[in-house]
Amino acid sequence: MNVAVSLLVTCSEEIYYSVKIMNKQCKFCGYMNSSSVSTRAIDRPWFEDDKFAAFITQGALTKGWTVIFPKEHVPNMSSYYLDSDFWAFVKTVHLKLVKVFGECVYFEHGASSEGSITGCGVDHAHIHIVPLKFDLKRAVESFDPEINWEKCKSSSLHKLTCEYLSFSNDVPNQDSLVYVSKLEQPTSQFFRKVIAAGLGIPHLYNYRIDQFLDNASESLALLADKENTCANYI
Ligand SMILES: [Zn+2]
Ligand SMILES: [Zn+2]
Repeated sequence: MNVAVSLLVTCSEEIYYSVKIMNKQCKFCGYMNSSSVSTRAIDRPWFEDDKFAAFITQGALTKGWTVIFPKEHVPNMSSYYLDSDFWAFVKTVHLKLVKVFGECVYFEHGASSEGSITGCGVDHAHIHIVPLKFDLKRAVESFDPEINWEKCKSSSLHKLTCEYLSFSNDVPNQDSLVYVSKLEQPTSQFFRKVIAAGLGIPHLYNYRIDQFLDNASESLALLADKENTCANYI
């Protein structure tokens, strides 16, 4: 197993230990590794704290499309849905995005293991926060009416042990109304396909090919200009 475990020690009146688990082959862990920092602004966080980071993503179909991920390498976010630090971070990022880009939705394609296609090529847990001008629930339902979505509170997602898709039109917090579908078969880039279809560009859903780097660069410039929050990547 290609996992490095490092012990970070901080001294004050007492000694605190935190364990940081990283996977050497993971792109997201690579973003956190100072020895492999990319020169591309898109590969650096526009906002972060000691536990989480927010990036404008490659394949930003809309301006402001952001991924949030924990600095710990885990396959999905379920263990964070009861974490008040996580929600505080998400809330801050959400407010900044709404201020610059307008109303947002958030979603996760939760994989259960490394290499699952539900993770869409990323084995590191993350959620997407996406400024969107149309109703994601309606778009999801018309894209595939056969999918069964259950309503729950976002905090309930921590109980999930299977693969799942989840999304919310709500303001992100522990009590957000979330729609969740437990997957019998892994699925790839589901929400990207839905949103690309909703934008009238269904064939441009694949982030590996359709990278929308201009959208990403403009997003970072707008955030820097209007929010002055980008000291982390400039
Ligand atoms: Zn990772
Ligand atoms: Zn993703």
